[in-house]
Amino acid sequence: MIPDLECQSLTKSFTETTAVKGVSFSVAPGSFFSILGPSGCGKTTIMRMIAGFLEPTGGDIRIKGKSMLNVPPNKRPVNMVFQHLALFPMMNIAENIGYGLRRVGLPKAEITRKVGEVLDRVGLPGIENRKIDELSGGQKQRVAIARCMVLEPDVLLLDEPLGALDLKLRERMKIELKSLQAAFDTTFVYITHDQSEALVMSDQIAVMNEGQFEQVGTARDLYYRPQSAFVAGFVGDSNRWTGTVEQAEGNRIALRTQDGMLITSATQGGSLPTGSMAEIFLRPEAVRVAHDAADLARFDNRLSGEVSSLLFNGAASRILVRGDTGQQIEVTLPQSGEFASLAKGAPVHIGWAGEQTACFSAEP
Ligand code: ATP
Repeated sequence: MIPDLECQSLTKSFTETTAVKGVSFSVAPGSFFSILGPSGCGKTTIMRMIAGFLEPTGGDIRIKGKSMLNVPPNKRPVNMVFQHLALFPMMNIAENIGYGLRRVGLPKAEITRKVGEVLDRVGLPGIENRKIDELSGGQKQRVAIARCMVLEPDVLLLDEPLGALDLKLRERMKIELKSLQAAFDTTFVYITHDQSEALVMSDQIAVMNEGQFEQVGTARDLYYRPQSAFVAGFVGDSNRWTGTVEQAEGNRIALRTQDGMLITSATQGGSLPTGSMAEIFLRPEAVRVAHDAADLARFDNRLSGEVSSLLFNGAASRILVRGDTGQQIEVTLPQSGEFASLAKGAPVHIGWAGEQTACFSAEP
């Protein structure tokens, strides 16, 4: 099957910096693809090249198999929703949505029909005559999407469109955007620095760092099987230790941390040499808690300590456990479990399996 979008060795150099360094990826038809990365990693530069606002220094961009190099922005089968939405406040909703259709000279009756149809599809029927400032933040988002989708692009590019919304609306819009994408059955390429947006909405996520893709995968792949320390640290919360590999056997290592703790970990893809520096990540929800140390005998990592702080977080609680030798370990506890009412200062035992950690070389 020909991908809706394919970038091959895409590169963009500016005078002082190379913002995108040979990025290759393809996006299957009708899927939600996100590029997730910290500020300045090159996300917007990729979008602007796909949209045609920036010429690549190298590589190719193909939409439905056709190279977009030298195709002007208005001739590309893509459209873009910006963070500030760029709706025209002096026009009503119908005029806003019909703007692109008027520019290509479609007859008036056809425009009216298409505008009505797309408003139905975004769940806002009959609001043609309203003004932009008579809409809620969520409705404006949907109108901005309708204005793009009425032109039936092969690919819709979305540049952090939820960035300006308050938290509650953002949560709702994540779900709405995903269902709009499914309803239109059109490929969405979404850029964000907010992992929770990418994890909730995307079929595939590319984690980007310093101009390159570190890993492309589903939300589960990235969360449970990170392939680099950057991905493990950027996606989700983790306890994180750096230290020296003291023992290495097969795919298992024992790492001595800087504060003297010995942690056993399973390495991904081969061993790490004894004496080398490595980094270990452990999800707070992978840690088990017990009143009795004997209940944790099955784990190769065990620690005794006390609860040093409690963080209530709705559905779950976070506790920090201070080990006997001073290390702090973050643990997630379900709200309804036996340990939900642990108090600060309570003695606890914790344990986790080496297989639950992610371990990477930290050699320079
Ligand atoms: P943010 O999330 O903050 O928008 P981003 O990941 O989208 O960041 P880009 O805007 O793509 O990052 O920028 C990547 C790098 O390229 C940055 O170092 C930026 O300063 C640089 N850059 C972007 N546009 C230009 C330009 N027109 N001229 C020179 N440098 C640029």
